[in-house]
Amino acid sequence: MSAVEVAIIGGGPAGLAAAVELAAHGVSLVLIDSYAQLGGHYFKQGPPEAAQPKTADDRQGEFEELMGALEAREVVTLSETSVWAMFPNGEGMGFTLHLSGPHEIERLQAHYVVAAPGAYDRPLAFPGWQLPGVMTLGGAQMLLKGHGIRPGQRALVAGSGPLLLATAASLAEAGTEVAAVLDLASGWDGLRKAPQAFWGQFARLKDVWHYGSACLKYGIPIRFGQTIFQAMGEAAVTAAAYGRVDAQWRPRLDTAQTVEVDTLCVALGFLPNLALTRHLGCAHTYDPDVDAFYPQHDAAMETTVPGVYVAGDVTGIGGKALSKLQGQVAALGILQKLQYLTPSNAEAQLASLRRNIRAEQRFMAMLRDRMRIRPGLQQLIEPDTIVCRCEMVAAHQIHTAIREGARDLKGVKLRTRCGMGACQGRYCEPHVRQLVAAATCTTPDKVGHMAVRPPLLPLPISELLKTSESRRHTERL
Ligand SMILES: Cc1cc2nc3c(=O)[nH]c(=O)nc-3n(C[C@H](O)[C@H](O)[C@H](O)COP(=O)(O)OP(=O)(O)OC[C@H]3O[C@@H](n4cnc5c(N)ncnc54)[C@H](O)[C@@H]3O)c2cc1C
Repeated sequence: MSAVEVAIIGGGPAGLAAAVELAAHGVSLVLIDSYAQLGGHYFKQGPPEAAQPKTADDRQGEFEELMGALEAREVVTLSETSVWAMFPNGEGMGFTLHLSGPHEIERLQAHYVVAAPGAYDRPLAFPGWQLPGVMTLGGAQMLLKGHGIRPGQRALVAGSGPLLLATAASLAEAGTEVAAVLDLASGWDGLRKAPQAFWGQFARLKDVWHYGSACLKYGIPIRFGQTIFQAMGEAAVTAAAYGRVDAQWRPRLDTAQTVEVDTLCVALGFLPNLALTRHLGCAHTYDPDVDAFYPQHDAAMETTVPGVYVAGDVTGIGGKALSKLQGQVAALGILQKLQYLTPSNAEAQLASLRRNIRAEQRFMAMLRDRMRIRPGLQQLIEPDTIVCRCEMVAAHQIHTAIREGARDLKGVKLRTRCGMGACQGRYCEPHVRQLVAAATCTTPDKVGHMAVRPPLLPLPISELLKTSESRRHTERL
């Protein structure tokens, strides 16, 4: 079994920045990511033969700089490798990580862990969202950037958050006609905070300019205070109904219009990927504004489980710049614990990082205002609307489970199979939580989570067999 001082899980901006900082001090570390290439969602690397969508910034240059720094220090990186379980070895004894990947390393010992697993799109449930052709904004980005595939001929882009314009621009640049962008937020939401938020944020202004001018160039209408009501079609999406929402995001069905499209890209911002921190037993706090739990951490990014640090989108809606800053802060915390740095050595760098973090947080405060989840959206879910797409569980089945006594997510799961499919509840959990909370007159945080158990990611059975075979072999010895 291999051993390192630090294991970093997640090769996105947060994990890469942490790795560069730790490697610069000579720490022995390994950087692990489940995708075939490092970079995470922001620096997503596509197949070399695919034409990449144009981006507003020099992402590739920034990515190559980070990778160059890692190569110069000969940092071990394991791509296409998933951490599917992780257990503490005992107080102060570090952790054992279980890995699955195209190499011989099945287990790894690490004194410290930086969990930087990022986030995924928060889904919106509405009638017909199980039809082929409906995907999240990130899903569309993944097809375009990760695989060089155009999702369809004509698309409607809907939801909330910064990915709306980015996705519309990428789709249009790839040759998909974008019928409209529907932003749930009104044109005014968060506007009061805009001057402060954009102060000194030249890269973000450049992004907005790039995406905005792409929408102008391709004649894409942007409609505020509107959303998707229904996806229509037999075997796949052929049309969509959409219209206005009120201030609480209740659909105003009297304003419904229909548009012919073969692709619907829909998401409501992001949900943190909590599989690792929940599996490890870290404490989490519920944020009612974004209706999500986040791992608790201190100023050094250490969670309530000593030795486990977090950074990036897993800690909240952050974006690339904040993710990198948090990765550096986590690295500085570990460097002090490992006594590579004294607190006074670290302080000057930390002070400047904290200043930059505050600037990023001002920007995020504006985004939060625009993306605050409002309860009216639940009205889109009709009794026969599918809530769990993996197991095809409809809303009325969940209501029956509640009438039969289910009071939390576990109760609903046991009665309906909701959350037992391939996504393990990632996409249905927020909807089920809201349905249970509303039906039982409680707050969503009281409804709890679906259980997290290894394997944390889908795993070939052969990997599990390998583990039990090697255990049997060890026992025989
Ligand atoms: C789907 C999606 C699309 C986005 N598109 C854009 C965009 O177009 N423009 C933009 O400005 N911002 C975009 N963002 C936001 C931006 O990418 C993030 O803010 C930023 O990448 C966060 O960095 P991170 O390091 O925290 O996580 P990420 O970049 O998400 O990286 C996390 C990494 O962790 C890995 N991982 C997770 N769990 C495990 C595990 N158990 N074992 C091994 N590896 C694991 C994942 O494979 C992933 O590569 C997008 C975000 C998402 C989720």
